[in-house]
Amino acid sequence: MTDTKSGPRKWLLTQNRQLRQEGIFNWPLPAFAGRLDDGRTYNTCPEAGACARLCYARTGTYRFRNVLEAHERNLKMILDTLDEWEQQMSDELKHKRYQGKWIRLHDSGDFFSDDYLAAWLRIMRSAPDGVRFYCYTKAVSRFRRLVEPDPPGNFLWCYSLGGTEDYMLDLESERHAEVFHNVEALEAAGYSDQTESDLLAVLGPERVGIPANPIKHLLKRQGLETFGSLQRKLDAEREARKQRAAKKAEACPVLTPAG
Ligand code: SF4
Repeated sequence: MTDTKSGPRKWLLTQNRQLRQEGIFNWPLPAFAGRLDDGRTYNTCPEAGACARLCYARTGTYRFRNVLEAHERNLKMILDTLDEWEQQMSDELKHKRYQGKWIRLHDSGDFFSDDYLAAWLRIMRSAPDGVRFYCYTKAVSRFRRLVEPDPPGNFLWCYSLGGTEDYMLDLESERHAEVFHNVEALEAAGYSDQTESDLLAVLGPERVGIPANPIKHLLKRQGLETFGSLQRKLDAEREARKQRAAKKAEACPVLTPAG
């Protein structure tokens, strides 16, 4: 098993407090953008949109030095030794502690590249019977291309709103998660509360409602909006800017020299 900064590492998969209660294992990455200790910059959530300003995984315990370092070590393994990491993960999943268990991919971070997602799909296909995987993701176009045509039988996912690819989702027919400021708001909007179990994201009703994390400054920032409604506002603003720029270009065409 890989040696890390803090010594030999027994397991790649971990459990945070909430997931441990449900017997779920987790593979976390650092959330969103950052810089590794060797100076490289990264963005593990390239499709993040409105969610980035409200992200629970960019604050609190996730920013504790030991936690962030552990997540960045995970990322480095993928960036630097993808094949080796894939083999280690496949080997680890054969251990009896994972028998009958669910593995959540990314309680922070997302599928940031095609190669990384493809590696997970191979890992899932080679996993023993009884080991199952799930995730939330904003990587809609990547999933459309690489997962939806032929998903592994042991993998379920839930698209989550607040990303730049929300517009690609059919909210009437596709499973998706929306973050509301509280439970009453999500129920009023016809969503189903997943607080009781994280697995309801993939096993419960398809309109998955998540009450926002009770982190004061993030709650204040979100107000009565949802991640999806904030993203729609951002999309509308971007479109309006584009149209203004197009009108301006029409009004003052750049003169090209006659030739
Ligand atoms: S995609 Fe998830 S982890 Fe990434 S910035 Fe958004 S909420 Fe945070």
